Amino acid sequence: MTIEILRDVMQVCLSGHVITDVLASHPEQGSNYCDRCGSPTLRRCPTCGEGIPGAAPLAGLMPIGRRPAPQHCPGCGAAFPWAIEEGPAPAPDTLSEVLALLRRLPRAAAGAAFAAAQPRCRQVPWSPGNPLEMNRC
Ligand SMILES: [Zn+2]
Ligand SMILES: [Zn+2]
Repeated sequence: MTIEILRDVMQVCLSGHVITDVLASHPEQGSNYCDRCGSPTLRRCPTCGEGIPGAAPLAGLMPIGRRPAPQHCPGCGAAFPWAIEEGPAPAPDTLSEVLALLRRLPRAAAGAAFAAAQPRCRQVPWSPGNPLEMNRC
């Protein structure tokens, strides 16, 4: 006789609160709305319909702790509604700003190094006839 181990199903509200991760085996733990924020809950991917993977049964033991809700559907890769939005791609003008900044960087870095060296240099009187003294700056 073969024991088929099925992955349990997670139910998550639209804000990302995990309602239960054993929905398939304990449907009574599920609810249509989040008990913390009142958002409707999902048990499957809105894009492909695949169940949100919940707890994996371990030899009759109840899983300990709760897994966080996944950010993306393992079936189709779509971001779930509660997924943390990644920052928008930089607009072209932002990109050119960054490039201009990068072009200025060597001079800016040199200026900063020069400014940082200034206090020490002031304590060492520079004399044109003493290049070694100047090199210490
Ligand atoms: Zn919630
Ligand atoms: Zn999906």
